[in-house]
This record gives sequence, structure tokens and C-alpha cells, in this order.
Amino acid sequence: MSQEPSAATSEETVTFADLGLRPELTKALSALGYEEPTPIQREAIGPLLTGRDLLGQAATGTGKTAAFALPLLQQWADSADGRTRVDPTALVLVPTRELAVQVSEAVHRYGRDLGVRVLPIYGGQPIGRQLQTLRRGVDIVVATPGRALDHIGRGTLQLAELRTVVLDEADEMLDMGFAEDIEAILQETPDTRQTVLFSATMPSRVEGLVKRYLRDAARIQMGRAAPAPGESPKVRQSAYVVARAHKPAALGRVLDVEAPTAAIVFCRTREEVDQLTETMNGRGYRAEALHGGMSQEQRDRVMGRLRAGTADLLVATDVAARGLDIEQLTHVINYDVPSAPEAYVHRIGRVGRAGREGVAVTLAEPREHRMLKAIERVTRQRITMEKIPSVADLHARRLEMTRAAVHESLLEEDDLDRFRVVVESLADEYDIVEVALAAVKVAHEAMGNAPDDEVIPDIAEPVERRERPGQADGRRGGSRGPAAGAVKLFIGLGRRNGVRPQDLVGAIAGEAGLPGRDIGAIEIADRFSLVEVPADAADDVIQALRNATIKGKRVSARRDRDRDAAPRRQRW
Ligand code: AMP
Repeated sequence: MSQEPSAATSEETVTFADLGLRPELTKALSALGYEEPTPIQREAIGPLLTGRDLLGQAATGTGKTAAFALPLLQQWADSADGRTRVDPTALVLVPTRELAVQVSEAVHRYGRDLGVRVLPIYGGQPIGRQLQTLRRGVDIVVATPGRALDHIGRGTLQLAELRTVVLDEADEMLDMGFAEDIEAILQETPDTRQTVLFSATMPSRVEGLVKRYLRDAARIQMGRAAPAPGESPKVRQSAYVVARAHKPAALGRVLDVEAPTAAIVFCRTREEVDQLTETMNGRGYRAEALHGGMSQEQRDRVMGRLRAGTADLLVATDVAARGLDIEQLTHVINYDVPSAPEAYVHRIGRVGRAGREGVAVTLAEPREHRMLKAIERVTRQRITMEKIPSVADLHARRLEMTRAAVHESLLEEDDLDRFRVVVESLADEYDIVEVALAAVKVAHEAMGNAPDDEVIPDIAEPVERRERPGQADGRRGGSRGPAAGAVKLFIGLGRRNGVRPQDLVGAIAGEAGLPGRDIGAIEIADRFSLVEVPADAADDVIQALRNATIKGKRVSARRDRDRDAAPRRQRW
């Protein structure tokens, strides 16, 4: 078996046309909004077009379906007699009926301008319809092994004309007990066939299949290139598992809780970018689309709006976002799991610069779990599985914002006296706490807290839940009070100056040499921030901060007057 050179690590742009695909195919791909081949497509399509056997180690989400489907379609179209055959020239075996439908739909979409006939066959579907379609003639069959064998036994699926067999998700098929069926099917196929095997993992049973049925196969392994240690940016990485239908709501919820200064949301295709931008604008976010189909002028306008702060969300494809350097960016959100670990590393490299903490959030569908694991392996970094914030979390967060606003107003002590008459007149009649409660309610509602009560089902996580890094180091947890001996510092920069918790942690850690884990709760108000530090380090931190700049501004720092405040449940 030989090793293909790894194109996946090369930075230069390769198009689908460069890979030698026919215009009918490149046109279909462009209509689907695929801007460029994914790494597995870049590596697999060339050898497959030459008829070579191929072994690909790649999980769902890498674009592996198109990697094998496009060469199948091209080979079919290249053979002059393609349209007149009755028996299929390609058979794709997959572990589940869902995958059979999904792969067959994908093949159909890619090949729509070629007029190729694709049929999914799987158990549980009435066999009559399958028989009828098979009799009329089919070019590509996508089948589960059991049902395929059933048809072979009845003589209704003829394999004599087969040129290519694809075993997709081979490890899954073996795990599901299809080993004998697969071998029985392969023995019915012509010796001259091209054999393609994709598997997310390579246990010895899969290697056994490879040895017995693949010849001089090109071997492609996704996620080989690990970034050099120390190269990875400092980024808090988390992922949420959520069904596709609930993704827009989940994104909204995550944005509300994370409250990014500016975020970029990555999507796979242009269509997805446009759709999501529209959806998020409809939900009250200021989102801008950025994709390869836009003119330079349009792109410049979008970037201008982001820099000026009139947009807070950029929705983009990888290609469009290439080379972007946005200083304000605090969050990278992967609306899908990226197609390769390298793409993930590139994406999250846009935050976490200059030693300040950035945040990367990935919304994964249940089937994309494996890809997340592969990314963790390659990056050697943890992606913490989180639960989508609940409506209750959101309410708590919003109440906290209201509390912070009221607190800020108390600290500023500026023109509160104007309202004394209101409070005093009400206090004659009501208990003062009740007056305060009513006033907070009015303020809370005036802050435009729109209701969001969409139920986002919690999907069981196959990956173990882990502690949030923020909780582990006690920096920004939910329920720990100030550590004994901690004092609160007042820092004269707040949200309006673009200050985020990670900036404060970065500055304090960098300037005063105080380790991040010793920094306690952080509260950011509009015009100032409050940070808990150990009492014995407070003076040093104040001194160091006075000589420092945050976000290009000089910092005023002092002990907060309110230093003995009771432990707070909710922090930033
Ligand atoms: P797969 O790994 O084959 O399950 O593909 C994962 C997803 O990526 C599917 O939704 C495909 O439509 C999408 N996809 C595949 N190739 C590309 C590409 N080159 N550009 C954008 N999206 C793609």
C-alpha cells in the first residue's frame, strides 16, 4: 500500500475543476454552495479518478461522501454506454437505512445534470418498489448489506457490471455484525472492480478487510498533521450537541449567554450562510453574511460594519473568511463541525491572540460526535461538552445583567437624587423592598428582555461530561463565593470600552504576574469592571494595572468600596 502525498496541509487553493471534474459536476457543486474541496476531497478524488483502490480514514462531516461520489459519477459519465445499462456500475454499502437515503440523495444532487439513476435499498422498505426500479435499470445502488444480499440471492441485483464498490463507514458495518454479509457480497463482484473503503477508525478487523479486498490502495488519513505544541492559541473550547432543527435557537441561546463583543459563525456553504444570516436577523441579532459569491465592495462594507460595531455577528464560509483579521473578535462559532481538524484549527486561530483568552463554540449534530473526537486528538486539546443553556439559565443571566445595571447606577451615585421623590412618595404607602422590587421589574423589562421559551431537547451525550475549564480554575464559576481573603478591585473600564473578562485576566496575569487561577469573580458593567483578587496581591495588582493599558486605554484601578460584599451566586 502506498502513501499519497498530503495535500491537506497545503495552503494553496485547489478548485473542484483543478481535480479534473467535469463541468456538469462542478456546476452542481457550485449550485450547492460548495466553494472548494474539503481536504479529503482534495486527496481522494485524484486517485479515485484514475481507478485506484482507496482506503480513507475519515469520519462523518469531512465531506467523504462527495469524495467517493464525485469520482463514481465522473467515471459513469465517461463511459459512453452509461445510459443504456440495466445493471449498476457502482455499489455503495452503508451501515444504516438513514445513511443509505442520505448518501443516495447526495449522489443524486451531485449528478443531477448527468441524468444518473441512483437507488437506495434498505430493509424495512417495501421490496416491491425496489424490484420495479431495479428492473427498469439503475446506475448506482446505495444499500445496507443485509438488503443488498437479499436482492443478490433473488437475482434482482446483478453485480456482473460493477466497476466500483464503496464500503462506507466500514467500522460501523462490522460493529453491526455485517462482516459475513459484506464478504459474501464482495465475493460476488468482478475481480476487476475498484474497491474503496472509508472508516472513521481502523481496528484490525477493518485492516483484515483491506488486506483481503483492496489492491495497492492509496491510503488517506485525515487529521494527520497536528499543530506544533505551543502553536495553538489560548482558546476556551466547548461544544453543544443539538439536532439540526434546533440549531438557530441554540445559536441564539449560546450568543445570549456568551455575550460576545464580536463573533464569527462558520457555515459550510453559501446557502447556509445566507439562510442563517436571515434567520439570526429575524431573531434580533445584527448579523452580516460573508461568502465567496460577494464582490470586494460588498465584503468591505460588511467588514466596516463589524469594525464600527453596527454588526455583531459575521456569518461566513471558510473561504470567505480566509485572511480576515478582526481585532474585536472574541468568539468563533462553528455552526457545523468543520470538515477537517486543520479547518478547525484555522478557524479558532482567529481568537485567543496576544495571550488573551478567546472562545470557540461548536454546534454538533449527534452524528458528528466522532469528528469532534478526531479534532480533540489532533489538536491535543479538550473540547468541553456543554448543555445548551436552558430558558432558566437565560433568565438568570438576564436578571444578572439587570442587577449589574442597578449596581452600576448605585456605584456611580451621580443623579439618583432626582428619583428620591418617587421612592419617598411610594414608601409612604408600601414597604421599601416592595418599591425596589417593582422598580427593578420596570428596569428589567425596559432593557428589552424578549421572551425565548423554545424548548431545545437535550440530546444524550455519548461523550463524558466534563467540568468547565472556568469552573475548574475557579475563575468564572457559577456558585463559588469570593475566596477567603479575596478583595474586589474597581477597574475604570467596562463594556463600552470593549473590555471582556479575558482582557482583564490577560492584563492582570500579564502585568502583575498573578496566575489566572487566582483571579476570582469578574463583573463587567458598562463603564467599569469589578475583579476579585487575593487580598495580599491587591496592592501589587493595582500598581501594575496603573502602569498598564487595556484595549489601548490607560487603566484606573483601586479597591472597591463595596469590598465586603456578600458572596454572589451569579457572576459575569
Ligand atoms: P459528509 O462527511 O460526507 O457526511 O459531509 C458532511 C457535510 O459537508 C454534508 O452536509 C455535505 O453537504 C457538506 N460538504 C461536503 N463537501 C463540501 C464542500 N466541499 N464544501 C462545503 N460543504 C461540503
